[in-house]
Amino acid sequence: MASDKAEDASQTKNQENTDVLHSTLSIVETALNKLGYPEEVFDLLKEPLRLLTVRIPVRMDDGKVQVFTGYRAQHNDAIGPTKGGIRFHPDVTETEVKALSIWMSLKAGIVDLPYGGAKGGIICDPRKMSFRELESLSRGYVRAVSQIVGPTKDIPAPDVFTNSQIMAWMMDEYSKIDKLNNPGFITGKPIVLGGSHGRESATAKGVTIALNEAAKKKGIDLKGARVVIQGFGNAGSFLSKFLHDAGAKVVAISDAYGALYDPKGLDIDYLLDRRDSFGTVTKLFDQTITNKELFELDCDIIVPAAVQNQITKENAHNIKASIIVEAANGPTTMEATRILTERDILIVPDVLASAGGVTVSYFEWVQNNQGFYWTEEEIDRRLHEIMMKSFNSVYNMSKTRKIDMRLAAYMVGVRKMAEASHFRGWV
Ligand code: GLU
Repeated sequence: MASDKAEDASQTKNQENTDVLHSTLSIVETALNKLGYPEEVFDLLKEPLRLLTVRIPVRMDDGKVQVFTGYRAQHNDAIGPTKGGIRFHPDVTETEVKALSIWMSLKAGIVDLPYGGAKGGIICDPRKMSFRELESLSRGYVRAVSQIVGPTKDIPAPDVFTNSQIMAWMMDEYSKIDKLNNPGFITGKPIVLGGSHGRESATAKGVTIALNEAAKKKGIDLKGARVVIQGFGNAGSFLSKFLHDAGAKVVAISDAYGALYDPKGLDIDYLLDRRDSFGTVTKLFDQTITNKELFELDCDIIVPAAVQNQITKENAHNIKASIIVEAANGPTTMEATRILTERDILIVPDVLASAGGVTVSYFEWVQNNQGFYWTEEEIDRRLHEIMMKSFNSVYNMSKTRKIDMRLAAYMVGVRKMAEASHFRGWV
């Protein structure tokens, strides 16, 4: 018995911590300590202010009712309404939604938006659902969370496996409940319903800007630079196009089913043409490498644009790239971050690199509120300005404090929220 226990303990000790909420909180705590905030500020920020769990009954196409579980976490609304996407995925958990809501607060802080963070999720597999079932689920979710969301309370948006059509159904459902036509309830809508130019590609555009700046810092010319992209969803696919058009060589891409590799550079336009709406493409080809081998390829830049915990202490030592730009949320573990930083590999953290999406969501909300709409050029110009400023404030913080970019980003991201909570008299 005793030796079993000892074995268990040593296994746990050797096991890497892949709990994203736990690692996020430990960095938030360090960031607050370094900024000189007392423990009670961390106590306030370590949990969302509000977390709602809902059950959504949906009549499926076979006539049977299936009940889905969904969540909405609102992390902190000291600065303003909370903001963040809704994901539809079988792996959604309450803990993940909580962590994602904290990340949204940090992102909003880094790009300096008048929002706090929120996140929603429904445990479901939209790849296996019909259009009608998805509409019913989307409308049911809005009815279930309608008490706590709204254009000046909490503004949802797309996330993993949700898109402008789902936003349109949700907006329509909310308008019926609220009896007002208020497009500012949700962002990421189709353009005809008050969506913004450039919203769909905004995350990838923001990643491209951050990647470009990181390349300059490392003395890498983007023209001809070899890039590996993990994930071919919204962020990964647009990103491959932007980088390809900028002259970079996208040598590998992957999706949930495998990876494709060509050291001479992949034919991105062709792959984009063959990709389905869930970002699946590799199945159509003879796969040259596995998803695991992807990170160990000879390349200059890696962009994880899929799911969390992909770069771990197992593969961090074998990475050959000199820059990692995190388009996904939480792709690198804390242990891997330490290893990569020691190896002088520049990590542009998720909360900075992927903040382009929420930035253009903010532009969408501003345009909805003012009833006057900007051109795509105007959106691009504003996004560029914000991303450059944010990249540099995080980079400078990391240099002056001699800390990695992730901790620097958390320090920049958490400061305004802590200050606003203090001014409101909460802490
Ligand atoms: N889901 C996106 C994110 O994680 C966008 C959120 C938003 O636009 O509010 O940043």
